[in-house]
Amino acid sequence: MTNLITEWVRPEIRQLNAYHVPPAHKMIKLDAMENPYRWDADLIEQWLNVLREAQLNRYPDPTANSVKGGLRRVMQIPDELDILLGNGSDEIIQLLALTVAEQNRVVLAPEPSFVMYRMIATFTNMLYVGVPLHSTDFSIDLETWLAAIAKHQPALTFIAYPNNPTGNTFSQHEIEKIIQATKGLVIIDEAYEPFSEHSLLSLVSRYPNVLLMRTLSKLGLAGLRLGMLVGSPTWLNEIDKVRLPYNINALTQLSTEFALQHYQVLKKQTEQIKLDRTQLLADLRAIKAVHAWDSQANFILFRVPNAKMVFEHLKQQGILIKCLDGGHPLLANCLRVTVGTADENQAFLTGLKLALANV
Ligand code: PMP
Repeated sequence: MTNLITEWVRPEIRQLNAYHVPPAHKMIKLDAMENPYRWDADLIEQWLNVLREAQLNRYPDPTANSVKGGLRRVMQIPDELDILLGNGSDEIIQLLALTVAEQNRVVLAPEPSFVMYRMIATFTNMLYVGVPLHSTDFSIDLETWLAAIAKHQPALTFIAYPNNPTGNTFSQHEIEKIIQATKGLVIIDEAYEPFSEHSLLSLVSRYPNVLLMRTLSKLGLAGLRLGMLVGSPTWLNEIDKVRLPYNINALTQLSTEFALQHYQVLKKQTEQIKLDRTQLLADLRAIKAVHAWDSQANFILFRVPNAKMVFEHLKQQGILIKCLDGGHPLLANCLRVTVGTADENQAFLTGLKLALANV
């Protein structure tokens, strides 16, 4: 059996670990940038009534045009741009890579950033090159970027705006320099747009090599798995060819349409999360041993003297956050906490103080 694996599974895949999601049963779950709010009973009732219409014996609408219409409306996507949907934006990253993948072609992204860019480059047999961000404020080091573009001629460049796990946005001027310098495709990943002050959507119409991704996951619909790609019909027609038929299931389509009709509920929750982020940041900064960075997303990155021990201590108290120590060197002793409800944030702060006093 082992021989079969070594013979047939590509070495790059053998070396990987499967994407690990830690068990979180009964824990205060602040590790995955989810919206902490459930819908109220009345809204759940209305949603269940919509689901009764589902025809599970039939394949879902392959175009998912009603969903796209709803997204176009709430996100104000200009008429000249098309929308392509994925099973989360993870699937869209994979579709983009599949469309352009050829051996020795390069995927470029800032480091540290979202791990899927590297993983999907590996899955699709492409080379991944990470360009380090500045160590103090995680801004773009333009000179290093331009050198990396000249050297590697990337087919795909991913820029998360705001960035995960650092929470900052980058200078638009520098992003435009990167777009102008590369002949490849630049993907602006706006997964955290609901929490950010600024969007780069206008760049999609201005540059032929720019596409933009969004997701409903952080907005409060992580369970539905719906991501979207916005771009010119010319590009999206090509990418659509590698999309598997019916990738957006019937329950997701019905639920998304319903949720978008009640977009104000999600919007209100988002506004609350932004307010609570301000409070959580101030509370973190009031703790002497903590260095916390500003955030335009629904999470906060912070550094403590001994991240691994603090993380474990919090876990024992039933509080799950994300430990980034041991990954990228710029994230030594860093932890990332998702903004939860006010009560969850308080429990986390109390737990953190206890952990810091004991490790
Ligand atoms: N982009 C970024 C920057 C992310 O942080 C995430 C989720 N952690 C995603 C994309 C993927 O989101 P989803 O697949 O849930 O749409």
